[in-house]
Formats: sequence, C-alpha cells, structure tokens
Amino acid sequence: MTFNLEKDRFHEKCGVFGIIGRERDGAYAGLEAARMTFYGLWALQHRGQESSGIVSSDGRNLYRHAAQGLVATAYREEDLEQLPGHIAIGHNRYSTSGGPEDCYNQPYLDRKHGIAFAHNGTLPDTSKLEAFLKDHHVDMSNMNDSAMMVAAIGCYMDDGHDFITAVKTAWPLFIGAFSIVAMDKNRLLSFRDECGIRPLSIGTLDGGYVIASETCAFDTIGATFLRDVEPGELVIIDEHGLKSEQIKTPNPKLDMFELVYFARLDSLLLGKRVDTVRQDFGRQIAREFPIKADVVVPVPDSAVPAAIGYSQESGIPFEMALIKNRYIHRTFIRPTPELRERDLKMKLNTVPELLKGKCVVVIDDSIVRGTTVRHLVSMIFEAGAKEVHMFISSPPVRYPDFYGINTPHQDELIAAYMTVPEIRDHIGATSLHFLSFEGMIKATGLPADSFNNSCFDGNYPISIGKRAKEVKQLGPGQKLPLSAFVPTEYATSKTR
Ligand code: AMP
Repeated sequence: MTFNLEKDRFHEKCGVFGIIGRERDGAYAGLEAARMTFYGLWALQHRGQESSGIVSSDGRNLYRHAAQGLVATAYREEDLEQLPGHIAIGHNRYSTSGGPEDCYNQPYLDRKHGIAFAHNGTLPDTSKLEAFLKDHHVDMSNMNDSAMMVAAIGCYMDDGHDFITAVKTAWPLFIGAFSIVAMDKNRLLSFRDECGIRPLSIGTLDGGYVIASETCAFDTIGATFLRDVEPGELVIIDEHGLKSEQIKTPNPKLDMFELVYFARLDSLLLGKRVDTVRQDFGRQIAREFPIKADVVVPVPDSAVPAAIGYSQESGIPFEMALIKNRYIHRTFIRPTPELRERDLKMKLNTVPELLKGKCVVVIDDSIVRGTTVRHLVSMIFEAGAKEVHMFISSPPVRYPDFYGINTPHQDELIAAYMTVPEIRDHIGATSLHFLSFEGMIKATGLPADSFNNSCFDGNYPISIGKRAKEVKQLGPGQKLPLSAFVPTEYATSKTR
C-alpha cells in the first residue's frame, strides 16, 4: 500500500486554547495564563495527541515551550514556570504521517514580528497563499498551511501594517478551514473561517477571557461559556475588553463529523450537548431498523451514547461487552492496515459471557477504512455470538475530508468502493445498517444546511481548489473501482 506523505502532512485535526487575564488595580493580574492553558489543553487532549505547545506573554516578552507527546508528559513544572504572564495560547497537535520534525511547530512564534499563532483546521488549496509568498520571496520549503498563514501575516507587518490590519489584509489568502487563536505581547486574537467548520468558543474567567476549541475546556478551568466565535468573525481582546469585527459574511457550516465522532461528549456545539445528539443518533437508528436482538453493545468510547439511545428506544438491554484499554490512544492514524489491526487487538477485547449464544447489536459511530469494524465482528463471533448486527450511527463516509479531520483519500474509504451489502459481506456481519442522512440531520434538531456534510454528500462549502480533482461524485449505488490504495485483502474479500 502506498501512502502519500506529502498530502498527508497537511492533514491535521487539533485543539486550540487561549486566555487573557483581567486588569486589576491598573495592571494586568497574572492569571497563571500558561497553567490555565495547560489544563485547557489537557481537556482538549482528544483533539490531538502527538505534541503540545504553549506561548505566553507578560506584556514584555513572549515565551514558548512545546514538546512531543500528551499534555501530561509534554510539560514539567519547570517548563510552566518558564512561561510567565497573563496571556497565553496553546495547541495540541494531531499530525498524521508528517514525521516528528513537524511535531513541535505549533503554536508558531514569530519573534521578528512579536506574534504567536495556533491553528485548527486545514487549508486544502494553498495556491493563492503560495503565489503571494513567492512574490514576497519567502522560502516555503518547510512550510505547511499554518506556517504559510503566519508568514503572510508577517509579510503584511513588514509592509508597515500592525498585527490586526495584517490579519485582516491577509484573510482573503486563507481559503479553507481555520479556527485560530493568536497573540502579541498585549492582545489575544481569535478568528474563524466564514463557515466555522471547526468549533471555537469564548468563555469568561475571573473577569478575563478564554477561547477554546470546545467548551469542555471551560468547565475544566472553571470558566463560563459566553458564546461561539462567529464564522467569519475576528475577536480582539486586550486591557479594554473584547472587540469584535465581522470580516466575512457568515455562512455557518460546522463539520458534522464533530458531532458524529470527534468532539467530547460534554462539549456544547451549536448550543447542543454532543452526548444528547449522539444518543439521538442511536434512537433514530432504532426507529429506522427495528430488529429482535438480545443485547446492544457499543464500540467504546465513541459509540456509547448512540448505543444507550438505541437501547432506550428499542428496549434491548445495553451491555459493555467490548472493553477498551484506556492506555492506548486513537488507532486510526497508523499508516498501514497491519499496524492498525495490531493496535486494535491491543485496544479492544470482549467479555465472552455477555456475548455467548446471543444475537448481538453492535453500534459504532462511523466506518472509514473499514479495518476496525471487520476486526470487531470477527472478535465478537469468536467470543461466541450467534448473530452480529452492525449499526453505524452515521451514514456511509464516501468522500474525503479536506478541512482538518484526517479521513483518508477517497479510494481508501470503504463505502466509496463497496456497496453496503458488499461491506456487510466483507466484514462478515449478519447485517449492516447505516443511519440515514435524513435521520442524522433530524437527530441534530437543526437544518441540514447548518452543517458541512461533505464526508457524506461530497458538497464542499469552502473551495477545495485543485484538490477537487481527487474527488469523484458518486450516485446512489455507484462506487469507485478498486485502487492501488486498497489493500489486496479487500480485493479478494474473505467473508465468513
Ligand atoms: P476504520 O473504519 O477502521 O478506518 O476506523 C473507523 C473508526 O475510527 C470509527 O469507528 C471511529 O471511531 C474512528 N474514527 C472515525 N473518524 C476518525 C478520524 N478522523 N480520526 C480518528 N479516528 C476516527
């Protein structure tokens, strides 16, 4: 199997956090901004586990620490002590196969211009940015999309603009998904693409302000949720308080995959608790596909709420018959199917007594490449189940993501090159059902056009530029031919 390192280097899904302390007695009180950021990043750990970094300011200097690994291991007490001041931004990175050399670059710290910058999202097509930077003789050899954004802002600052005007002037070059926290020595900035594809919210704490990818980070540090950063909005916070400018006309389209899989259950997205929406996904599938079964089992942790909803709606008892090893992190990003399969064996195990001789409904949140589900079905049969009915609490993922979620190329998506009955046979399940698109939308309680549903329907709300060539629109029942990306095992589908 080949893997396109160049393209995958640009895929990132990350967590960002920013905080600014309030003014007290004429001076900004140190709110231990870096320590708060550390806790905030810890709450956002699920958005990125490869590396973590913080930049802080005491109004005089900018300080930075970044290291590989989880938040718990990336910072020692001495590191936090070296990050003084009342303003800080932080970033958890989820790189794919970009390699360790990419791991420590966020938040970017541009010492020349005295600015720092952390980005969640992806710009699928950077040709406009690249042309601009080329004209300005910037060496782009080691730059990804986020680095190019910082460089463009720096170019405008070289032309004499201050930070805020430079951001506004560079904005038209930024085509894609971006939820950003940025800072200079005295200000915290935050801005979001016109669709608001990746989440970004504002909270208050002790008279100061906090910005985070998800509201769960506010709860962790005791902050109060205020509102979302609006799509297309630039928020500037300094000693005078919060100012807002609507830079682009909003066209709100939060990524549906945040609700399906990515966001934490206790976060609020578009005013909805993620847990509630996922339970409703489960209720909806139970209505769409009523069957007789002995037990409902979630694939932990992401499908637990959907399985609870399914169980409540159907009356079929819920059991935790699959056990997750909590000390293994997300397995999705391994570059080969063999490695992903080995990871899965370490990650999940069965409780045979709950499965033996039973007709089992298994709920998972999504099928992407199909590796996880295939392995799971065989594990559950091996544990003695009589029938395994797979229910997926989202529709088939038939289109790649270009906005920072890191789903693979279209020809690696199993639902792009196999029909549902073919997937069922390939994974060896007794039956396989996906939540309908309409059912998914209904469960959110919001109109379909409030979301970026591109993974499911192939409609990309922000131009993906020349990368549109990588996508084939598929009619109902239509599929892609098997490609070089697909491991040979799929070509000779071994069914049970
Ligand atoms: P697979 O079908 O084997 O490629 O993996 C699908 C599983 O990975 C799903 O059950 C999800 O829990 C999880 N998943 C879905 N999307 C992502 C993603 N973008 N990053 C990491 N894990 C994901």
